[in-house]
Amino acid sequence: MALCICDSKKEYSICCEPLLTGSVKAKTVRQLVRSRYAAYAAGGQANYLMQTWHPSTASNIKAAELNTNSYTWDSLEILRHQQKGDYGQVEFVARYRDDEGIKKAHHETSLLQRVNGDWYYLNGQVANQA
Ligand SMILES: [Zn+2]
Repeated sequence: MALCICDSKKEYSICCEPLLTGSVKAKTVRQLVRSRYAAYAAGGQANYLMQTWHPSTASNIKAAELNTNSYTWDSLEILRHQQKGDYGQVEFVARYRDDEGIKKAHHETSLLQRVNGDWYYLNGQVANQA
């Protein structure tokens, strides 16, 4: 058994894999953020990132850039999540090493919106780096 790359301590086949392969969709804001982290960490998952990006904020995003992964993602920690109707927020810290191997942390509060039953990433507020 392989643990999921999203750091959930669950098996990949029952965690993010069904989301990344498109067999199921995220039911909660946490699932969406986890699976998008997994997509970044795995690399080459631009399609999934584009599909889960809200069209209103995805226009400047280029799939080729999403497929280039120069970071090594080490862990995901979800600090806080909430959902009100069709909007949600997830605050998380994603730890990674940059292309020079220097450890860094990305601290973000993501805003998510549900449209026709599916969750999308709207945008994120990046907190000051610790
Ligand atoms: Zn996962």
